[in-house]
Formats: sequence, C-alpha cells, structure tokens
Amino acid sequence: MKLYNTLSRSIEEFEPLDPPNVGLYACGPTVYDYTHIGHLRKYINDDLLVRTLAANRYKVRHVMNITDVGHLTSDADAGEDKLEKGAAKLGKSVLEVAKYFEDDFWKSLALVNVEKPDVTARATEHIDDQIALIETLIDKGYTYKTRQAIYFDISKFPNYTKLSRQKLSEKMAGARGDVVVDARKRNPADFALWFFTVDRFANHTLRWKSPFGEGFPGWHIECSAMSMKYLGLSFDIHTGGTDHIPVHHTNEIAQSEAATGAPFVKYWVHHAFLTVEDEKMAKSKGNFYRISELVEKGYNPLAFRYLTFQTHYRSEMNFTFESLAGAKLALNRLYERASYFKEVHKHADIEFERDFLDSLSQDLNTPRALSIMWGMLGSNLSDSVKASTLYKMDEVLGLKIKENAVLLHDIPESVMKLVHDREELRKQKQFTRADHLRSKLEKMGYILDDEKDRTRVLRKI
Ligand SMILES: [Zn+2]
Repeated sequence: MKLYNTLSRSIEEFEPLDPPNVGLYACGPTVYDYTHIGHLRKYINDDLLVRTLAANRYKVRHVMNITDVGHLTSDADAGEDKLEKGAAKLGKSVLEVAKYFEDDFWKSLALVNVEKPDVTARATEHIDDQIALIETLIDKGYTYKTRQAIYFDISKFPNYTKLSRQKLSEKMAGARGDVVVDARKRNPADFALWFFTVDRFANHTLRWKSPFGEGFPGWHIECSAMSMKYLGLSFDIHTGGTDHIPVHHTNEIAQSEAATGAPFVKYWVHHAFLTVEDEKMAKSKGNFYRISELVEKGYNPLAFRYLTFQTHYRSEMNFTFESLAGAKLALNRLYERASYFKEVHKHADIEFERDFLDSLSQDLNTPRALSIMWGMLGSNLSDSVKASTLYKMDEVLGLKIKENAVLLHDIPESVMKLVHDREELRKQKQFTRADHLRSKLEKMGYILDDEKDRTRVLRKI
C-alpha cells in the first residue's frame, strides 16, 4: 500500500511500525457549531482510509479527539475560546453546547455511514494527561511562563517548520499579523500550552488546577497528549485538513518530539478542502450545508458519500447540486443493479477485486476504484459473481448497496393505487397530503423516487 506523506511531500510505501498493527489518529471536531459537508468530506475519506487498511489486512486502532475546550478563534493563540463564545451566545453552559454539537456530529457521521473510531477522546476528560505532558516540557526546558500563559519556546526546537517547510521568517511575519495579545510572548510563533485564567480569560468558565496555576490547556497539547496515550510515543498515521499543516500539526510535532525525543508520526495524511459552487464555504454566503439539509431536499445522504469518492482526497472538491444529483442517479442505478441479483456467489472475482483494492491502495485513488466497479458490472461475469464482487467492494466503499438493493417487480395493485393517488395530489400541489402518503408507503416498505415525469416505486428487500 502507498500513501502520500506530507512530511516528505511524496507518495511512500506504507510500512507500519509494528505490522500488522496500525495506529491512526484523526484530528476531530471542535464542537461549537453544526457539522457541515466540508467536515464530512474529511471524515468520509478517513473512514475510507481505515477500511482500505482493513481490506489490506492491517489491524487498525483509530483514535479521534473531540475538542471541547481551549480552541481559540485563531489557531495561533489570538481571540476567544470558541466553546466559551458559543455558549455565551446560546446562553448555555460550555459542556451543554459541546454535548449538543457532539451529538450532531455523530448523527451526521452516521448518515454518511462513517464508522465510529475505536477511541473517542474528549479534551476535558484528559486534562491530567495534558498537564503531565506540559510538566515534562517544563522539566526539559522547552517552555517559559508569562502572567497569561505557559508557552512552548520554538527557538529550542530545531527544525520546527519541517512539516510546513515554511521559512521561519515567513512564519513569524504571518503570526505577527495576528492581534498581539501577550506582550511578553518572546516570539510570535511561540504557542500556548496552558492559559491562566487571568486578564482576557478571567471569566473562562472551564478551568482546572495545575501545579503551575489555575487555567485551561491550549488547543494543540490535547492532540499530542491523547494520541500518545492511546497509540504510543511514535505511531503510524495522523490525519487532518491541509489548514492544520502550518500551525496545529507543526506545533503537535514540536511539543511531542521535544517531550519524548522520538519521532512522533510516520505518515502525515492531509485532506484538501471542499468548495460550494466554486466558492469557499461561509455562513455569510449561506452555502454552509449540513447533511440533514441535503436529506430534507430529498437526497440520500449516501449520495454525498458517493460524490466524495469521485474526487481524490488531495484535490479540492467542488460541491454543486448538479453533481449531487448525478451522484444520486449513479447510486440509485447501483441499487437497482443489485436488485436484479438473485443469488450471491461464494467468492468475488479475483481480478476485479484485486484491481479495485490496488487502486485504493495507491494513495486512495477513489475515482479509479469507482470506474473499476462499474467496469465489473458491465463485464461478462455471471450475475452471482458480480453480486459477490460488488458486495466485497462495498465493504470498503460503505454505500450500503446490499441493504438498499430493491425489488422493482411485483408491486401489488393496492400499493400502486396509493402511488397514483400521491401523484395526483402532487399535481394538485397538495404536498402535505402527498408527503403523508409517502411516509405511509415507506412504513409499508416502499421507497418512492420522484423523477422528472414519473415516480418510481421500489421495494426494500
Ligand atoms: Zn488535532
């Protein structure tokens, strides 16, 4: 298997530290707002990576953090704590807000069939681990203290920018553009390990006692403390968005390697961004879609999963409703094909299965994997072998093809009458009554798919 490693800027042969075990840490959400499709793209591709590793017979331990404290509105120590700000806006406690948005996160993930990690680590439940790591850094002389915070002194860590490959002078110029909030900070790129609840954080509600004073952890330290706790001082894969390269992940490497003296992560995997209709997602533009909104618009959430695979994870993905409609059509065709399979052969076709896994094992080439899947369906294999091969592929793709395979035949008269009644109601624009009939039919086990000039009715198996 091959993976692109941001550290070397090249595609490398994947060789885990302790095969067949693989330790994988994924930067998780800061739970102060709803999960949107840009986030989901990242978690869908993480899920695909985990499933591809499993298909290659690796035993993956997947750890993800939930940030419920310490992430300021700027990644570089300026601004307010996102959670505290969100809580104040909603008039709720910080932990209530965190719980509410964490629930939304899991629900969104479930809709696109992303499996839960083996370990979910909340920052607020690992304060002791973070304090211990900060103590090690203090003992080893990598830190200094001001009235406001304990900082990691980047001048003590050679090769600080090895991941981002920025020149330190450029980085410092960039950091200087931020609001300077602590005049005693020695170097603009130094970063806080621990904030004291004084001055601008005097009203911070989440606070803990520590040997160095009452306060709360900086954002970066949680990922180092929790990943090393569950995966060891050195582990195989760390994932995150490309936006994390210059600050968050750079800081994670510095503080982890300074504390342990060992290489922190072997392969850094970074996901590219998602744009909507060629524009960056932004609340002000109203293009901030949640998966539940796509469902309300009548899309199967797995159509978004399918759509995600049409773009390689390292390329920018441009979401449009036109492309989503195309993905929905393709997915329905897949379900429809599966509905004709009367039996499933014991074994998948070896060649197609191998080509499919090979393409995913080449740095997750999902567009190619999809085309191999369609090629297989169009081949002259018998239906029963096609069925077993398709279901085998779907163990990695996670499109729930078997569960959604539907019978297109043998729809009883009584059901067809309800379908026609509903079509009449829709023509008369009586949508509430039409929707009522749709739910009634769904409860009876029938799925309706409204196309331009007709409604297809499918039966769940
Ligand atoms: Zn992180």
